[in-house]
Amino acid sequence: MVANRDKTRTSSVKALMRSPCSECGGSLRRKEITQEFENEGVRVRVSGIRAWVCSGCGEIYFAPGGAQRMADAVRSLFALARSEKQHKGTVVADLS
Ligand SMILES: [Zn+2]
Repeated sequence: MVANRDKTRTSSVKALMRSPCSECGGSLRRKEITQEFENEGVRVRVSGIRAWVCSGCGEIYFAPGGAQRMADAVRSLFALARSEKQHKGTVVADLS
């Protein structure tokens, strides 16, 4: 069971790196992006995230582990914003 899961993950990573955009077939380019998130009135912005962006439709793909790192950063930012009671304005993190 465990071996099968690992195998599946490895092959899907290769598919991401070699395939064009699954939305429009455009080519992917490596870029640093900025994304903003809102949760219960708290806004956070994370910039300098390295991802693959479709040159055709702008769809964003994360390199292996990238989505998880960003999710962790966003969760930390929300926790920081709440602890500092920064319910107004935006907490910004630059990961570059
Ligand atoms: Zn596309």
